[in-house]
Amino acid sequence: MLSLHGGSLQRREALDEMDEKWRNSWTADDLSTPPSRPFELKWRNRTSFERQRMVEDGLLVHRNDGTWELTPAGWAELDETRAQRQAVVDREQERRERLWSQLVRAGGPAEIPADLVRATGMYRGYRGVFADLEVTRSEAFPSGIALTVLDLGGRYANERAADGILYRFPATETPGRDRSEIASIRAAYEAGVTVFVMTTGAGGSRTVHRSFVEDMDYASGLALLTFSGRSRTAIPPPPDAPFSLVEETPAEAVWARRRARPNQARFAFSVLKRYGTRCAVCDLSVAVAIQAAHLRSKARGGRDDPRNGLPLCANHHAMFDRNLWSITPVGGIVTGEIRSQTLGITRTDLSHLPAQPHEDALSDTWQQWAKAHPTGSAQ
Ligand SMILES: [Zn+2]
Repeated sequence: MLSLHGGSLQRREALDEMDEKWRNSWTADDLSTPPSRPFELKWRNRTSFERQRMVEDGLLVHRNDGTWELTPAGWAELDETRAQRQAVVDREQERRERLWSQLVRAGGPAEIPADLVRATGMYRGYRGVFADLEVTRSEAFPSGIALTVLDLGGRYANERAADGILYRFPATETPGRDRSEIASIRAAYEAGVTVFVMTTGAGGSRTVHRSFVEDMDYASGLALLTFSGRSRTAIPPPPDAPFSLVEETPAEAVWARRRARPNQARFAFSVLKRYGTRCAVCDLSVAVAIQAAHLRSKARGGRDDPRNGLPLCANHHAMFDRNLWSITPVGGIVTGEIRSQTLGITRTDLSHLPAQPHEDALSDTWQQWAKAHPTGSAQ
């Protein structure tokens, strides 16, 4: 980080920048305060210790004016660390492509016996994430790099296993192992290496998908693993584009060519990341029943943009699509002849959500409602 600022930065700026960069990554523990320093978050406190250690090791200049500055030795160490890390990543990516070729030569990747997958070394054990720590753990990646993710089912309702999967972070009785599994997925994300997703089929057969970690979100506890198919390289994530309600204007053609085929899993991930993992109108949170709904439907050219979406349970999604309830331009919830209580709607508006849909999506929704209810609507 310091290297991006010519080697030095004010302490406050440095901490703010770290906060910005890792905002979605802090754990509950990072964001707690130590009993001895109740006014300071733990990650900030740990950072101060780490900074002091780097001064003692001669990597940062000893200064008392609040400036963090790299020494020439600090710069050299940084170059060295980067080079080592890149070598680890390159080696690992090549190894993974060899594993893939092996699997294909052995008759894979679809509907093969579990023994065959085990024989390649792609997956061993029973946990959701196999990081093959003996091979992938290093100083740069202390929790290893996730190699294979077992898709345990329990998927969100409208994911299609054709594009990718949403992987839910584990929350088991061994939180230490859970944390290191999540760290190994993060390592794969940052390194941009191939990750294998393994699904289970009829008769216990296995299908392996060559994939990459496209995105992660700690708040919703989800990682988006996108299948890369024949391509061995990751597809870059979409840029922050200006909002457009309707699919593909000519100006977007450049990105459209680079983008992967429409991706149900990506849309679901972005919706759950933006609004949370509960039904927006009844708070149901059972994953298999939660869908990423489009406000302007796909049939009417609605985009796979989270600002044109909402997380809804299967029931409220069906009722929304059949115009039994709708949303006003300011996010209020309205119903027709059937009252919200009967429909099982417990919210009166969307103000409890951490973010709102785009105003264009809301006014489009309202126009559709008005067409279906020309005499006006009664709450
Ligand atoms: Zn619902």
